[in-house]
Amino acid sequence: MRPVLTVGSVAFDSVKTPSGEVSRVVGGAATFFSVAASFFAGVRLVAVVGDDFGEMEMKVFGGRDIDLAGLQRVSGETFRWKGEYGNDLNSRETIYTHLNVFEEFRPHIPDTFRTSPIVFLANIHPALQLEVLEQVQEPEFVALDTMNYWIEGAPDELKTVLQRVDVVVINDEEARLLSGESSLVKASRIIRQMGPSRVVIKRGEHGVLMADRDGYFATPGLPIENVVDPTGAGDTFAGGFIGYLASSETFTDDVYRQAVICGSAMASLSVEDFGLSRLLSLADEDIRERFDSFRHLTSFEQL
Ligand code: AMP
Repeated sequence: MRPVLTVGSVAFDSVKTPSGEVSRVVGGAATFFSVAASFFAGVRLVAVVGDDFGEMEMKVFGGRDIDLAGLQRVSGETFRWKGEYGNDLNSRETIYTHLNVFEEFRPHIPDTFRTSPIVFLANIHPALQLEVLEQVQEPEFVALDTMNYWIEGAPDELKTVLQRVDVVVINDEEARLLSGESSLVKASRIIRQMGPSRVVIKRGEHGVLMADRDGYFATPGLPIENVVDPTGAGDTFAGGFIGYLASSETFTDDVYRQAVICGSAMASLSVEDFGLSRLLSLADEDIRERFDSFRHLTSFEQL
């Protein structure tokens, strides 16, 4: 098992969905990622929180293999985000994004993290993602997430960092925007030409499409009756996907496929409750059951 270094947001989220509403719960892309990945590998978290992020909030990281030496605490308020979902849970409106202490954030990678073999650059400004790569010593594997905001707002920096990345994990809308292609098959080829050898496209309730030089692997989304809150599902997917890779000796094609199922299993669990609640109460048995559900969902007898 190799440790995973991650950099991204730790936040206070407020979320409204057809199932209800929560306010000021711990969230953030790097938080969902770290908690999900910690079921499979050690995580090294680099992020920033304000002085309003107290002992209670720190408990989400407690009792897990998450090294917090890179978690900066500065004076000011923690990053805050609020989202509201429509009835079909596919459309989401961002009500506000208060960067707060995140605005001045410069990632500082502690010495003990600099030799991390596996790096996941969660969704932050691509210039900061580059700064992280400048501070680590030749990692074996780098993966990156990004969003529309950076694809449109910082395209040059994003293209520079993409050249140094092995795998991109993005959603379908972002893949279309980044490539300028509406077909996800074409989009994945164009994104691979930008640098990464593999592209993993998250398609929400429709599952995941993974593309590399040799072809594709696709899985549907697990039919879930009670989707309560999709927030962080993409980051949770990335946590399961990369955590699984980190727990494997070698990254064969089969391992990549298993990792996609692992990420999908973790995301399918996460959406069953608000925020991090479901992930924080997960048992290994729950994860195994989800693997079985995916196997059952996708297996059939050949004619
Ligand atoms: P997702 O549902 O995968 O888009 O992730 C939602 C999480 O990302 C929430 O926990 C938010 O706190 C966090 N988030 C929202 N906007 C941003 C942003 N601009 N930069 C970093 N993290 C964000």
